[in-house]
Amino acid sequence: MSPSPAPDLAAHPVTGQLFESPVAPGTGWPGDPATAATPVARNAAQTHALACTSPDVAELDARITVCRACPRLVEWREAVATTGRRASFADQPYWGRPGPGFGDPHAEVLVVGLAPAANGTNRTGRMFTGDRSGDWLYAALHRAGYASQPHSVASGDGLELVGLRIVASVRCAPPANKPTTVEKATCAHWLDRDLELAAPRLRSMLALGSIAWDSALGSARRLGWDVPRPKPRFGHAAEAVLTTPDGRPVRLVGSYHVSQQNTFTGKLTEQMLDAAIARLGPTADTDTEPGGRR
Ligand code: SF4
Repeated sequence: MSPSPAPDLAAHPVTGQLFESPVAPGTGWPGDPATAATPVARNAAQTHALACTSPDVAELDARITVCRACPRLVEWREAVATTGRRASFADQPYWGRPGPGFGDPHAEVLVVGLAPAANGTNRTGRMFTGDRSGDWLYAALHRAGYASQPHSVASGDGLELVGLRIVASVRCAPPANKPTTVEKATCAHWLDRDLELAAPRLRSMLALGSIAWDSALGSARRLGWDVPRPKPRFGHAAEAVLTTPDGRPVRLVGSYHVSQQNTFTGKLTEQMLDAAIARLGPTADTDTEPGGRR
């Protein structure tokens, strides 16, 4: 029998530790919440079951990062991580797994993104880290006092978020940034649990783009929150107030996504993003009617 080929090892850009791509759970990647024993969801029913039984944010994140419920996305994320790396990152290991939530586990604010970028989160293992979208988002969060530094280059670079956590509608990088309806529905189980765990403290949510807006509203409905009807429409600076079952208002704020398509063209400016983020704070004015839009 011929020997197995040697694994393709590459050094983490911060720690220098060697990793295979995709990164095996519990092998020392900075911020990896999973271990070799973390249970793996392999279909939508298992995703639902494992999300519902996650006792806290740490275990939820761990279970997310080993999920294999969407065959098309698993194949894509691992193909990018092995044979499809961008030339400028060819000497780096690629995470190649779903992106866990990132930030303060006791956050009062959630940012809901769309999905990991193939050469961003899918490479670094951290939300909005290592791509131009993240440069914009973290600079704005730093200006607003939520991020400890304006740059987010790689996991292990020291970035911390205070009072805010970043989650996403879909946790695996999708081809052409377009998850299917079934993939969005399957991954929504993780988002539902994120909202449920955050609810006791949650004050506001920022939805980056219309898919994130719809995902946040969908999760809120499934959790039994009071959501305005007709459904609030997405737009930049759109707002709606959702109410949790125990009567707590949660402000949902819309923003154009921080994608290069929007930031390069000027559709989203720094001032627009700063203004949307300012609406998340405890001192934002309250001229939003419960159950309605501004
Ligand atoms: Fe699992 Fe979500 Fe990735 Fe599908 S998109 S495999 S549900 S983490």
